[in-house]
Amino acid sequence: MSRFLAERYASLVAYTPGEQPTDMKYIKLNTNESPFPPSKGVLDAINTDAVSALRLYPDPECGILKEKIAKQYGFAKENIFVSNGSDDILNFSFMAFCDGKKCGVAFPEISYGFYKVYADLYGVDAKMLPLAEDFSVSAEEYCNIGRTVVIANPNAPTGIALSVREVERIVASNPDHVVVIDEAYVDFGAESCIELVHQYDNLLVVRTYSKSFSMAGARLGFAIGGRELIADLDKIKYSTNPYNINRLTLLAGAAAMDDYDYYMENCRKIVANRAYTTEALTSLGFEVLPSKANFVFARSKKIGGEALYTKLKKRGILVRHFKTEKIKDFNRITIGTLGEMKSLVAAVEAILGEAAGEE
Ligand code: PMP
Repeated sequence: MSRFLAERYASLVAYTPGEQPTDMKYIKLNTNESPFPPSKGVLDAINTDAVSALRLYPDPECGILKEKIAKQYGFAKENIFVSNGSDDILNFSFMAFCDGKKCGVAFPEISYGFYKVYADLYGVDAKMLPLAEDFSVSAEEYCNIGRTVVIANPNAPTGIALSVREVERIVASNPDHVVVIDEAYVDFGAESCIELVHQYDNLLVVRTYSKSFSMAGARLGFAIGGRELIADLDKIKYSTNPYNINRLTLLAGAAAMDDYDYYMENCRKIVANRAYTTEALTSLGFEVLPSKANFVFARSKKIGGEALYTKLKKRGILVRHFKTEKIKDFNRITIGTLGEMKSLVAAVEAILGEAAGEE
C-alpha cells in the first residue's frame, strides 16, 4: 500500500478471482466457464472490419444489443441494462441502491464473495445471513428485512436455488428496497424470476454471458428491471465509463441472442454431465449438494477440501477451494464436457485410493 491510498480503502480486502494459470494446460473446472465454444454466428460477427472495431468508439447506448436481449426475454429496450460483465452491474447496483445512511444491504453469509467487497468498498452496512443447515438460502429471513437484498439464485458456491415463489415473497415484502437477484447460473435448471419484473418495480435481475453463453472472455452482462431502476444504472454508467463495452463484445452479444437455441442445448448437455458427476462422486462417498448450476459443491469425509484441490491440481485438474471455515471441506467443481468429468472422477478415485493406502 502506498502512502497515497485514500484512507477509506486502507482496510479494504479485495476479491480474489479464480486462478487463470498459464504455466500448463489444465482441465479447467475452477471458474464456471462453459466448455463449449461460442456459436458460429458469434464467431462470424466478430470476424469483422478490425480497423473500425478498434478505431471507433462503441455505441454507448448499446442499442442493437439491448434490442436483441429485450426481444429474447419479452421486454422493452428500456428494461435492459448492459455492462462490462455482471460484476460491473453488481458494482453499479451497490453504488446506486445501497445508501449507507438510509439502509444497509443483506445477503447470504455464504455466497458470491464479491457482495461483501462491494459493501465494504462503498461503506454500506452488510447483514450477512447464515444459510440453513442444508446450505439453502432461508428466504423467510429476507422478508420485511428493510434493506437492499442481494441473492445469487442459484446461490454460489452451493448451487442450491430458491423457487420463484420464494423470491416473490422477498420482493413483495420489501417494496421500499431494491431486491437484486443474481441469475448468473439460472440457465442450468433453476426457475428465473424475470417475469416478476412486470409486476414489481423494486426487482432487478442480473444475468451474464460468461456461463451459459460461452463468453467469459468478452466481459458482458445484462440486467432486466423496471425502467426507473435501469435509468439509475445508466446514470451511474454515464458517470463512470460510458464506453465500457467494446465493439467486438457488442457484436458478439447481439449475435449470441440470435443463436439462443444453440446455447440452451449446451445447457442441457451440462445438466446431463452434472447428473453424471453427482452420481459418480456420490458413489465415491462424497456429499454433493443439489445443484441447479454449472458446478457442483462436494465434500468427502475421506479427504479434506484443500488436500483434494492440491492433489487434483498436481494431476492437471483445477477446481475451486475456498478457505472460509464453514465450507473449507468442500470443493466447487465446474461441469465441463463428459470427457472432462470422466477424467475428474478417475483422478478423484485414484487420489482416494492413494489416501487409503497411506493410512
Ligand atoms: N455472479 C455470480 C454468482 C458469479 O459466480 C459470477 C462469476 N464469478 C458473477 C456474478 C460475475 O460474472 P461476470 O462478471 O463474468 O458476468
